[in-house]
Amino acid sequence: MTAEIFDYVIVGAGSAGCVLANRLSEDASVTVALLEAGGRDTNPWIHVPAGYYRNINNPAITTQYGSGPEPELGGRIVNWPRGRVLGGCSAINGLLYVRGQAEDFDVWRQLGNPGWSFRDVLPYFKRAENQERGTDDLHGAGGPLSVEDVRMENPLCEAFIKSAVAASVPFTRDFNGASQEGVGYYQLTNKNGRRCSTAVGYLNPVKSRSNLKIITDATVATLTFEGKRATGVRGRFRGVQGDIKARREVVLAAGAIGSPQILQLSGVGPGGVLKAAGIDVRHELAGVGANLQDHYQARFIYECRAKGSLNEVWHSYYKQLKVGLEYALTRRGLLTIGAGVVGIFAKSRPDLETPDVQFHFMPLSAEGSGQGLHTFPGVISSVAQLRPESRGTLRITSADPDAKPAIISNYLAAEADRRVLLDAMRLNRRIVAQKPFSDIVVREYMPGFELSSDDELMAFARAKGTTIFHPCGTAKMGSDAMAVVDARLSVHGLTGVRVVDASIMPTMTSGNTNAPTIMIAEKASDMIRADARARVAA
Ligand SMILES: Cc1cc2nc3c(=O)[nH]c(=O)nc-3n(C[C@H](O)[C@H](O)[C@H](O)COP(=O)(O)OP(=O)(O)OC[C@H]3O[C@@H](n4cnc5c(N)ncnc54)[C@H](O)[C@@H]3O)c2cc1C
Repeated sequence: MTAEIFDYVIVGAGSAGCVLANRLSEDASVTVALLEAGGRDTNPWIHVPAGYYRNINNPAITTQYGSGPEPELGGRIVNWPRGRVLGGCSAINGLLYVRGQAEDFDVWRQLGNPGWSFRDVLPYFKRAENQERGTDDLHGAGGPLSVEDVRMENPLCEAFIKSAVAASVPFTRDFNGASQEGVGYYQLTNKNGRRCSTAVGYLNPVKSRSNLKIITDATVATLTFEGKRATGVRGRFRGVQGDIKARREVVLAAGAIGSPQILQLSGVGPGGVLKAAGIDVRHELAGVGANLQDHYQARFIYECRAKGSLNEVWHSYYKQLKVGLEYALTRRGLLTIGAGVVGIFAKSRPDLETPDVQFHFMPLSAEGSGQGLHTFPGVISSVAQLRPESRGTLRITSADPDAKPAIISNYLAAEADRRVLLDAMRLNRRIVAQKPFSDIVVREYMPGFELSSDDELMAFARAKGTTIFHPCGTAKMGSDAMAVVDARLSVHGLTGVRVVDASIMPTMTSGNTNAPTIMIAEKASDMIRADARARVAA
């Protein structure tokens, strides 16, 4: 048995965990351990942005979970890859830099969480950011997370933007500006055309600090306790079972699946679920694994007659060489793209105050995420509702820490989610019908223009829709009976353990979830340090 001891033990080196490791180890007088189930980020395709399409299902650096059988999707299981490597999902994600809407955070504050309004969290978004356009009231420069513009010109993207404007969607340069609404190019978490995961941005610059120990191949199974105080973690560290002790705190940053799973395996969660899995209840907390939220998208695929689809490159060695050379020499071109090049944030109804639907437009097409590209020149326009009302659950089904939990997202269960998705699909069709994009469309490959009634479009969304990989909310912050952590992210009813990752979002942010998760960890690191100072002073 090993029995190392650190002041802080951080579980999970993902988007949040790497931020915490950096910030907490800034204080040379404390010791920090960062435990990561996966390995180092040596796979070269992690660092090439378009490598996203290769790595999303790579078993060496991901764990493939499944959400389902989904009741509203005919019992389908929706594939949920999660990063299992230094950087976590920020090492395999689509790189889109989207903070969400100011109102998202004002709602968190309104739900009874002091310190989480947009005004409160904005300094943490700015502190994290290294915005290549420079600073202004809303943006920061010089932070660890590099944010860059798209480094590619593409006629299909230009045509789609013009058609969206023709369909009355305003053009915007910045989805993270004063208003989110509009059509424009996404910004990416890239640095000089290479991926800026949190391992790259936050961990690499500080990994030689003597007070920071990064342990890969370290899978935490449970917390260890003295009464209701967490004293450390138990797990398999480089193949050896053992304990690692925390003098001050354990910080769970294992993500929206890993963190509630560790809590449940530790006997912290809904009693019925724990008992059914053969776990003794240490601390009843009904909300652990509840309140699961995710974005669900319907993907429209078009065959195009104009040049510019990445599909052409995928199927031509000559073009691959050209694109590869362009990237190697200039760090520009098709290899710098992420999970969307053009985005739209729009209102499904004019009377709404802020957008409720998001588009991801890509100059490439495939049957599914991570699959080979079509042989015809294609593009994808995918649409999603931003603030779904459906709620799901995550439950362990055995005491085996290596067993995957049962996950049901309940996609499209709420009537509002179906209605908004339908409106989003209709907006997509209106955009595609405008010139100049309409002139270059050969056919709608999926679902096909012949499907146009509400029932047909909804049947398509149920049969073919997929996740945008944003699960969150499974250890929500708040003070109601289903809350798992308080506004300082400490687990209700326990001491010595916090959750700091996408699990704590009480409601989803209106957009992709990497930047908000990084903000959460930036803010949490200040709270952890302030609480430690207060304890010393008391
Ligand atoms: C394919 C994909 C595409 C995405 N695209 C985008 C995008 O374009 N833009 C965007 O903003 N967001 C995107 N996201 C979402 C975003 O990346 C996540 O919301 C964010 O990374 C979540 O951060 P986290 O810290 O909560 O969890 P993670 O980053 O998942 O980190 C959790 C870490 O904990 C480790 N871990 C888990 N369990 C244990 C354990 N028991 N012991 C030790 N370690 C453990 C994991 O291996 C992992 O490294 C995408 C996600 C995916 C999967």
